[in-house]
Amino acid sequence: MPAYNHLFFDLDHTLWDFEANSAHTLMQVYEECQLASHGITDYDAFATTYHAHNEVLWARFRNGFIKRDELRWKRFWLTLIDFKIGDTHLAHEMSSAYLEILPTQRRLIPHAEELLAYCKQQGYTMHLITNGFESTQRQKLQVSGIAPYFTELITSERSNSVKPQAAIFQYALQATGATAEESIMIGDALEIDILGAFYAGWHQAYYNPARTPHRHKPTYEVASLEELMKIF
Ligand SMILES: [Mg+2]
Repeated sequence: MPAYNHLFFDLDHTLWDFEANSAHTLMQVYEECQLASHGITDYDAFATTYHAHNEVLWARFRNGFIKRDELRWKRFWLTLIDFKIGDTHLAHEMSSAYLEILPTQRRLIPHAEELLAYCKQQGYTMHLITNGFESTQRQKLQVSGIAPYFTELITSERSNSVKPQAAIFQYALQATGATAEESIMIGDALEIDILGAFYAGWHQAYYNPARTPHRHKPTYEVASLEELMKIF
């Protein structure tokens, strides 16, 4: 087993429970912006529609086709359009509310804090590599209480690149003084975290809680963060 010195974690869906936090936030946006009074009476249908648009726009953002601001408000605008509400102002209002509320949420993935405390005790240096936005990610780290575990926060904004591009992994090595051989990427997104790290020549630990089948061979694969404590 290689001796890792630097553990690079993804944040959303890997440590910070994006699913739970986003669901809670979306519910608050729905209420704060009084969407029921605008005719959207089925909350679940609203959430499903939002998630579909959000996923497509994130893929477009990762591929460089749209900018951050466009992603942020268009996911709500397209959702409203599906409910026959052509209200640009409301879309911007929802976007602001969502961005304000989301990073104040603090739910973590099971065993995340335990894993970080264990790794710190083992003497690893830990960092984050995230495609999320810098100020948002910093706030999530602060409110969830895990900020002190990390040395460097590598974001797309800072590195001018996005996972899975090799450039963000190379930037991470430069920023931390680590080498690829002593580094491992831990993340939940096969195409983004795991294949990105693989093509950059890093080891990878794939957190796959749903045990989604695939044809790749990450260095490690776990269904629970607890299992990583046996590896590190
Ligand atoms: Mg993730």
